[in-house]
Amino acid sequence: MSHVCSSLLMHCMDFRFGQAIKDFMSQKNLMNDADMVAMAGSAKNLVNPETRDFALKQIEISKTLHSTKTIHLMNHTDCGGYGGRQAFADEQAEYDKLTGDLKEARELITDQWPDLEVKLWLCKIGQADGQSTFAFETIE
Ligand SMILES: [Zn+2]
Repeated sequence: MSHVCSSLLMHCMDFRFGQAIKDFMSQKNLMNDADMVAMAGSAKNLVNPETRDFALKQIEISKTLHSTKTIHLMNHTDCGGYGGRQAFADEQAEYDKLTGDLKEARELITDQWPDLEVKLWLCKIGQADGQSTFAFETIE
């Protein structure tokens, strides 16, 4: 019996995302069509040599078991895996690091599996009227 899905979504484990991730998946038609990997810091685990093998293994398993074609790789602002907002001098420095890691992680994935499509996302967490807001930006 084979189970096939189109995608794998790798994102941070951060609980603040719970509903936002569901909304994102729904908008992208990924609900029940994507393997899900949640790790603190998401793309950081691919870039970091100490955790890379584990992170790549999740992709390999998804590809082997479920014939996954697309990897959605997501980082987010104010990520505890990166030390939070306070770990960066300013918003631009945080943006550069988070998107830089996403791009580096994409290269690591496509070096190993050139047939995989890798889509990059940055979720910007903000505040409005005392509520957290989540804006998903595609990174080229
Ligand atoms: Zn996080």
